[in-house]
Amino acid sequence: MFTSFLIKYAEIGVKGKNRYLFEDALVHQIKYALKKCEGDFLVHKSQGRIYVEAAGEFDYEDTVAQLEKVFGISGICPVVSVEDEGFEKLCETVVAYIADVYPDRNKTFKVHSRRARKNYPKESMEVNADLGEVILRAYPEMSVDVHDPDILLNIEIREKIHIYSKVIPGPGGMPVGTGGKAMLLLSGGIDSPVAGYMIAKRGVKLDAVYFHAPPYTSDRAKQKVVDLARIVSRYTGPIYLHVISFTDIQLYIYEKCPHEELTIIMRRYMMRIAEHIAKETGCLGLITGESIGQVASQTMNSLIATNEVCELPVYRPLIGFDKQEIVEVANKIGTFETSILPYEDCCTTFVAKHPVTKPNVKFIRRHEHNLDEKIDELVRIALETDELIIVEET
Ligand code: ATP
Ligand code: MG
Repeated sequence: MFTSFLIKYAEIGVKGKNRYLFEDALVHQIKYALKKCEGDFLVHKSQGRIYVEAAGEFDYEDTVAQLEKVFGISGICPVVSVEDEGFEKLCETVVAYIADVYPDRNKTFKVHSRRARKNYPKESMEVNADLGEVILRAYPEMSVDVHDPDILLNIEIREKIHIYSKVIPGPGGMPVGTGGKAMLLLSGGIDSPVAGYMIAKRGVKLDAVYFHAPPYTSDRAKQKVVDLARIVSRYTGPIYLHVISFTDIQLYIYEKCPHEELTIIMRRYMMRIAEHIAKETGCLGLITGESIGQVASQTMNSLIATNEVCELPVYRPLIGFDKQEIVEVANKIGTFETSILPYEDCCTTFVAKHPVTKPNVKFIRRHEHNLDEKIDELVRIALETDELIIVEET
């Protein structure tokens, strides 16, 4: 029945002179998302609105599911568009529309019509009144409420006549790409994919880096990270995933540094390497899945130690979230089931029994000093052997 969608966008509507940039980015992201659907679509801006029109057959459920993943959309209104074949015909269509869309008609309604085509024989007030009457006659169980109706029936009279009343909530946020780009430190865990999703929702494009430590971490562990990136890319578009071989760096730190500081020192090297790639690829910040107190390396003291090696801002959108809250988002976005697959993490292989929870940055710096030039050499090799995987849902 539905032939097109009217896309509502809240936040990006208020961006003043730059508004068209946001709208163009949203149109671009919608087109990208719909490439995965069956059917051809025309996506266009018209008079401060964005329309998605299906050219012929399309899969309604699938199309809505894709649109629900596009950041920047606040609401998706499925629209029935008909040719103007006289008011009688319009009444019939509206009555049939209500029968189809509202099996339970114990509801209040209001007709809200707009006449963009001024040669239409009735004025909008007249259309409202006359259509309202027709609906009441067809469905006596319905009643009018002009202040707070259950159903706001929109009738837009343009070249064609558009009828819509349902609003399916969109994900909100801003279109990806309008907020620059950031580098996500993506592990195989529950937290980091959620962190990436949250920052992307604010319009930020994602690149990602994964520290792989073969043979301590298997190919399956790496594949799991690729799979997680792919799930996140349903929302963000393609993700450039850098896979960095971290084994030699880890083993060397293990050899030279006190084991209770191992995790912190490793994390400092992860941040340094991530920042290096970030700067080279035009990223404006780093993103991690850290949350205060979740593990020893995420106490406020530990965060001071990992934070101080970076110049770029480190975005930690989960900082105040409990695990349960993070799991809820992971479930919503579809990463949870993959995240809990039991493949080893590079950090767990070397983790100390009693890691420091209050690292002293002075000690840490001194111990890092023992790593000499050799660590710089290892970092250089790790960067040189960066494996780039372009991850995308097809
Ligand atoms: P997650 O569930 O995201 O794995 P976690 O609770 O296991 O998080 P840590 O292992 O302390 O926490 O990692 C904290 C953050 O550091 C992660 O959220 C992620 O952003 C980053 N990180 C950890 N390990 C890696 C890795 N192997 N590759 C890339 N980033 C990593
Ligand atoms: Mg982890």
